[in-house]
Amino acid sequence: MKITFPHMGNLYIAITGFLEELGVESVIPPKPSKAAINIGTTLSPESACLPLKVNIGDYIQALENGADTILMAGGVGPCRFGYYCEVQKEILKDAGYNFEMIVIEPPCGRPLTLLSKIRKLMGGASWTELYRAGRMAWQKLLAVDEIEKMAHFIRPREVERGSTSVIESKALKLIHSAKTLTELKEASYQGRKAFSALQVQEDRDVLKVGIVGEIYTILEPFVNLNTEQVLGHLGVQIERMIYMSDWVRANIIPDALPFLSSEHKRTAKLAKPYLNHFVGGDGLESIGKSVEYSYRGFDGVIHLFPLTCMPEIVAKSLLPTISSDLDIPITSLVLDEHTGEAGFITRLEAFVDLLRWRKAKGKTVANS
Ligand code: SF4
Repeated sequence: MKITFPHMGNLYIAITGFLEELGVESVIPPKPSKAAINIGTTLSPESACLPLKVNIGDYIQALENGADTILMAGGVGPCRFGYYCEVQKEILKDAGYNFEMIVIEPPCGRPLTLLSKIRKLMGGASWTELYRAGRMAWQKLLAVDEIEKMAHFIRPREVERGSTSVIESKALKLIHSAKTLTELKEASYQGRKAFSALQVQEDRDVLKVGIVGEIYTILEPFVNLNTEQVLGHLGVQIERMIYMSDWVRANIIPDALPFLSSEHKRTAKLAKPYLNHFVGGDGLESIGKSVEYSYRGFDGVIHLFPLTCMPEIVAKSLLPTISSDLDIPITSLVLDEHTGEAGFITRLEAFVDLLRWRKAKGKTVANS
């Protein structure tokens, strides 16, 4: 069995860590690129959401490189994610590919179904090896999130433009290549050490912006046209509404360990005055987190989502009310395969200019 999976930011680091521990061979698709989008848009329905198209491009490149099994996450709820895997399966079969697909879905009270899918992945591995693999994947997720958060803080303060990204990518490579928990610990330590040695301008007037929206668009830099890096270079410290470990906590763990889902419940409570039910995908989180960013004194919120994404269209219709009720600038930016980089960056720059102007006029509240 040679397993592949779709890219979503740096998620491949945790997935390959998991599969390596199980002794299962993996084929990592090339990072998302124009080539992947072109393949995906040629084979997918035009109205399909952008993540589906890019995933198709990822799968085909990996299948061409020898993968025979596709691992992907499934979803529940009213958006298209619920039947995403079936659509992808049909597209790939029609294109003449033979493969098996293993779909890992939120347990929704049926942990045994999830376990049986995991059992398939395990091959001949024992439950102890599965535990070790899960632990390694989880620790790698946490290590990646830690490095990304440090980069978000340091990039707007770096003296030499681009130096944060160099350290970030070196640290991520070390985390990726760590084979044991001790090596992983050492990789994280090296990353922290390199960041703390980086020359920064401590007193730079940095803006704080929350990034909300659809998870894939937030986490995949190729799809969001490197929003985080562009904003960092404009002197903006960002905070994503979701990091990969948050997604696992919110979608895989809570059914088994409900007390760990308190963050999700808190976000839903904050969203309640504007949206009081699940609308699929990350729509409810986009609302709750926008409210939270306002309470925490952020200078603004950027809402990212792919064209035709239903949950985020619902969120977009409510964000102007939040913006005016809570006096926080919010901009919604839609991305698809036709989005031009120059125009997109201009919109980010214009939004940052607006935030700076407001800050200069003393319009934001003090950070909490
Ligand atoms: S959340 Fe949006 S982008 Fe993701 S599957 Fe649902 S509709 Fe598509």
